[in-house]
Amino acid sequence: MSDPDADDAMRALSAALLSMLEQDTTPPCADGTDRWTDDSAAVRAKVALRCDDCPIRERCHDFANTARPPITFGVYGGTDRTATTKRHGVVDLSPVANATPDLTQTTTDDRVSDD
Ligand code: SF4
Repeated sequence: MSDPDADDAMRALSAALLSMLEQDTTPPCADGTDRWTDDSAAVRAKVALRCDDCPIRERCHDFANTARPPITFGVYGGTDRTATTKRHGVVDLSPVANATPDLTQTTTDDRVSDD
């Protein structure tokens, strides 16, 4: 089920981007790098300042504020939306990593046969 506010924000951002492209311009984040979604918070903080010069910043901000599911990683509209604990695309292996093997158990493969 779509959210009318999210749909409106997406349409407004798309129209603004299209308008920029028609004028042969692009937003600062379209610089061919992935710095707006860099793993480094310091890099994201630095590029977030570049959003100040973006003519579609308000629309980008509105889009990010209404997106569903919520955006939890990267810089949008000058705001770093990265969650404190990055879970995006990461498989949580901690239950496996923290498991202590029970070395008192044997399997039939562990038994040495005297035959
Ligand atoms: S405001 Fe949005 S579109 Fe503009 S540079 Fe920042 S992230 Fe890119």
